[in-house]
Amino acid sequence: MDTAVVLFNRDLRVHDHPALAEACATARHVVPLFVVDPAVPRGGRARFLAECLADLRETLRGRGGDLVIRHGDPVTETMRLVRALPAQAVHVSDDVSALARRRQRRLAQECARHRTAFRTFPGVTIVPPGALRPSGGGDHYRVFTPYWRAWSRHPLREVLGAPAVVPLPPGLEPGPLPVPGPGMGVGRRGPFEGGETAARERMGRWLKHGVQEYAEGHDDLAGDRTSRLGPYLRFGCLSPLELGALASAADDFVRQLCWRDFFHQVTAAFPRIGRDDYRPRGREWRDDADGAQAWKEGMTGVPIVDAGMRQLLAEGWMHNRARMITASFLVRKLCVDWRVGAEHFFALLLDGDVPDNCGNWQWVAGTGNDTRPNRVVNLVRQARRFDPRGEYIRRYLPELEAAPTGALHEPWRLPEGIGGYPPPLAVPG
Ligand SMILES: Cc1cc2nc3c(=O)[nH]c(=O)nc-3n(C[C@H](O)[C@H](O)[C@H](O)COP(=O)(O)OP(=O)(O)OC[C@H]3O[C@@H](n4cnc5c(N)ncnc54)[C@H](O)[C@@H]3O)c2cc1C
Repeated sequence: MDTAVVLFNRDLRVHDHPALAEACATARHVVPLFVVDPAVPRGGRARFLAECLADLRETLRGRGGDLVIRHGDPVTETMRLVRALPAQAVHVSDDVSALARRRQRRLAQECARHRTAFRTFPGVTIVPPGALRPSGGGDHYRVFTPYWRAWSRHPLREVLGAPAVVPLPPGLEPGPLPVPGPGMGVGRRGPFEGGETAARERMGRWLKHGVQEYAEGHDDLAGDRTSRLGPYLRFGCLSPLELGALASAADDFVRQLCWRDFFHQVTAAFPRIGRDDYRPRGREWRDDADGAQAWKEGMTGVPIVDAGMRQLLAEGWMHNRARMITASFLVRKLCVDWRVGAEHFFALLLDGDVPDNCGNWQWVAGTGNDTRPNRVVNLVRQARRFDPRGEYIRRYLPELEAAPTGALHEPWRLPEGIGGYPPPLAVPG
């Protein structure tokens, strides 16, 4: 074949990239393409994405290629390029969200119309969604534990190296990198730098110094002993398959990667996961705009909740234990619809994506894959257990620096008005 276009989306890497590897192995010329779609809301992720694209461009240039960037509707722009080149094939990494599926369907149709091959490849998850089916019937697993068992036994494809050369055809205008505009996450420079280079450095450090203690440390809020690789997995700067293979001795960590695969296969089967209850249970939600706003601002008067919400505002990331605590407070205590919370998380989280965000929100709300839909989180116990010295709370709520630790765990014991901090929100019931 003369020319193949590889349309990147959330697979912004060269290592273990089956769609790119196959193009490089079979085509004389390869055009790596990213289309910046103004219709896709990216929230705080815009800056991170821009860094990922800049890094990918550098890496591809180092291999004789480039990252061609276009702005507009991804299908229209891809087909425009296909016709202009002309290209004989379009490769993409198969993805699961409703938006991604729609785009893939449209691309497949347009490619068929223009007699261009359209091929999808694995790479977004470790085990492709749909590869595992429960023996009792059904097109996907609804419960995690049997999925984990089947997943652990499933044979995996080989981890691919990065192509040595990416042969770009001559005379192509590469196009400008996106510049994140106002309100697109500029200035919110948290502890994350986008891109495969930063991702691989972090992965290397994590495998050397962190993963061995994951089992005992991952719930330690103040110690912050999780990988923080979420944003890199979200944008595909890292291959989850490669990470899982390198970390295979750490069962507890690999299990978390399996949760990610689990929610992706749920989303593939139930693409409305961001809108509709996966298991409708007739829950009644309260309309509480003030409560929801206080929650968003980290001003509920419950320190363990507010610390999590302020971490999200400050860093675009939140510790998993805090995500569970804050989500549980919104849906179980304030009885506010999980969609309100999911939307806020999605707007701010660097790792915010539909399958993991909505899958977890529905899990906490009891409308999703949890087998115990009425599970209640005891906030005092959670705070005492996972932030025993109140370090996490004080880090994100400096106004409570001088408060006694016991009162940080039991908010009703906080001195009234301390540091301008509000009293606990009244909750229904
Ligand atoms: C309400 C709520 C919303 C969430 N929203 C998202 C989201 O939008 N995107 C997202 O990637 N994760 C989400 N999570 C899952 C989890 O909190 C994050 O993946 C994790 O905190 C990321 O930090 P880390 O990379 O240090 O994770 P680690 O603990 O180091 O785990 C490694 C990787 O495993 C995966 N993982 C870990 N826990 C989960 C989980 N519960 N579900 C699915 N995958 C998991 C992630 O890819 C993560 O990067 C959410 C959890 C909750 C309770």
